Amino acid sequence: AKLRGKACTVVFDHAMYTQALRLLQVETDLRRAIEREELCVFYQPIVSLLTGALTGFEALVRWRHPQWGLVSPGEFIPLAEETGLILSLGRWVLHQACDQMRRWQRTLPGTDQLSISVNLSGRQLLQPHLLEQVGEILTDTSLDPQFLRLEITESVLGDYDEAVTILKKLKDLGVDSCIDDFGTGHSSLSRLHRFPIDRLKIDQSFVSQVEHDRESGEIIRTIMSLAQSLHMDVTAEGVETRAQRQLLQSLDCQYAQGFLFSRPLPSAEMEALIQHLPHW
Ligand code: C2E
Ligand code: CA
Ligand code: CA
Ligand code: CA
Repeated sequence: AKLRGKACTVVFDHAMYTQALRLLQVETDLRRAIEREELCVFYQPIVSLLTGALTGFEALVRWRHPQWGLVSPGEFIPLAEETGLILSLGRWVLHQACDQMRRWQRTLPGTDQLSISVNLSGRQLLQPHLLEQVGEILTDTSLDPQFLRLEITESVLGDYDEAVTILKKLKDLGVDSCIDDFGTGHSSLSRLHRFPIDRLKIDQSFVSQVEHDRESGEIIRTIMSLAQSLHMDVTAEGVETRAQRQLLQSLDCQYAQGFLFSRPLPSAEMEALIQHLPHW
């Protein structure tokens, strides 16, 4: 709601009323989505730029809404974070993704060293008992911790010292982390080396512009040399063209992910794809 004037009158017009009702409806629906098994996880390959081999997947949640069809996380993750629903939703995604990864490792030849990357929101990272939860899920799915990677956005790490402490404990558990959307946040470079992190993920906004805009190229170059001096690997997200891939390869970027290789797919479709042990 907009606040106007000194009296802070809340101006609440009809459009906003409708909007509020809609949000309330979405929240109610989202709350039930897990129980009704409307959420599902899609998987997108992460490819080694050195060898072209599949190295793992990123888990990306989707919502199959009975009326609206497939809803993308950009539409409901912010609401889930605002309402706290992200805690149960995130736990569900983590369990689902670890379980799927372990099943593939067990049943599909050549997949036993592949890893799964799961997005963790700030609120999830800072919740009490996260460590116990992650530990439980790993035990329950019998996935080796070395095959799980958590993706945390740069802004969360920049804002909370606590987050760094938690990542250290996760690392002790054997779980690596990655800074997501790198380049869009505001983490101070002087603190970066203290983050217990072994990978940076270059945001797709830089990758998508790299053929058209010199600055994006410069930013990627800077991130690459920064990562090198910090002994971190880099994944580029949103790689759509061969030209982008070639440029990233020429800069020694280790991993890439994007429509050029594969869109995020439901598990059954991804399984059909990896049965042929793809090389890109
Ligand atoms: P993200 O973590 O930066 O994920 C990458 C997004 O880029 C995904 O969007 C993916 O589908 C999309 N993408 C991948 N390759 C390409 C490409 O070549 N071109 C283009 N244009 N896009 C590409 P998606 O799946 O809609 O997810 C959006 C965001 O929602 C994610 O951004 C992440 O921040 C959040 N998210 C998704 N799943 C989860 C989850 O389980 N938990 C949490 N906390 N956040 C999630
Ligand atoms: Ca991510
Ligand atoms: Ca991103
Ligand atoms: Ca992100």
